[in-house]
Amino acid sequence: MVKETTMAYSKNLLMQFINPKPGDIEICDVTLRDGEQTPGVAFTKEEKIAIAEKLDSIGIEIIEAGFPVVSKVEEETVREIAHLGLDARVCCLARSVAKDVDVALRCDVDFVSVFIATSDLHLKYKYHKTFAETESCALDVLDYAKDHGLTVRFAAEDATRTDITVLKSIFRSAEEHGADYISIADTVGILNPSTAFFLVKEIKKAVKTKVCIHCHNDLGMAVANTLAGAEAGAFQLHTTINGIGERCGNAALEELLMSLRVQYGIERYDVSQLMELSGLVEQYSGLTIPRTKPIVGANAFAHESGIHVAAVLEEPMTYELFAPEMVGAKREIIIGKHTGSKALKGVVQKMGYNLTHEQMCELLDKVKKCSEAKKQVSCERLEGFIRELE
Ligand code: MN
Repeated sequence: MVKETTMAYSKNLLMQFINPKPGDIEICDVTLRDGEQTPGVAFTKEEKIAIAEKLDSIGIEIIEAGFPVVSKVEEETVREIAHLGLDARVCCLARSVAKDVDVALRCDVDFVSVFIATSDLHLKYKYHKTFAETESCALDVLDYAKDHGLTVRFAAEDATRTDITVLKSIFRSAEEHGADYISIADTVGILNPSTAFFLVKEIKKAVKTKVCIHCHNDLGMAVANTLAGAEAGAFQLHTTINGIGERCGNAALEELLMSLRVQYGIERYDVSQLMELSGLVEQYSGLTIPRTKPIVGANAFAHESGIHVAAVLEEPMTYELFAPEMVGAKREIIIGKHTGSKALKGVVQKMGYNLTHEQMCELLDKVKKCSEAKKQVSCERLEGFIRELE
């Protein structure tokens, strides 16, 4: 009875005026590394493998499988993921320490992400070293990794609180030392879309190496900043499933993929598996998805208010940006205080009942009273009310 709009979505006509758009991009999902750094989260090897396989089947280009120096099991897991034979490339994290690169080599990953913090705050309170000392140590490790044949992503931690001249200079040095990617980490989520765009543009003036952007969500802008970075020419975009990660998490994969699809027309990722993937990560991480979470929250395609439901029953696109089936979700009509007669009639008919006008009025009254008493009007309760009708 609800119109079928399985793969439909509304096009944002304003996009025609926007230039530039993201060019060539790839996604590096870091759920298995940064996502696992969420306080209290630890994935088992089997869980990591299941997530990696699902990411691969969606078409994610790179999977950051872990931080193998953390433990023997982590090292084994990263190695096993690297040997799964996925289409996705597999990478892992390494500090700017030769030992970490050795572990990465043993894991047989496609590339290693060597990171070094570059902000004054981190230099002073974390490394207790000068910038020059830190830089030379990082470049030595970069040389070491390159000498051992590794592809290297050179990541500046807290890049967004680093003096931009200093940042450009260390990225330029990394490029001279053969870095294959340079990565801007917005470690505490200080960027907004304008500064993200500006920063990526500036870095691209300084280096020819492919730029990665890694955004945290402390001000709720991680996805927007990632997209702004992509519009400015960032190539590799970092995400986590359900946006999990340290503190307020990272840019959410499902949000980024749907934005790429709906806003930018990038259709190569199999978004129909997003609900399933999100459910896996919710279960394995123990982090419950809020009902109002974009794309994968329980309310993302739920409607209660009378005006909305009446319109959705005729044409779902009135109140849905895209059809729930696109991401493997289902539309839900919630019956409650805000339900209107037209919506209730639609639901009742769908349940196979044909009621008179008087019966419908009586039923609507029961529904509203029940909801106002803070009781949920479940399908069973609604059937009960229908049976009570004269
Ligand atoms: Mn991070």
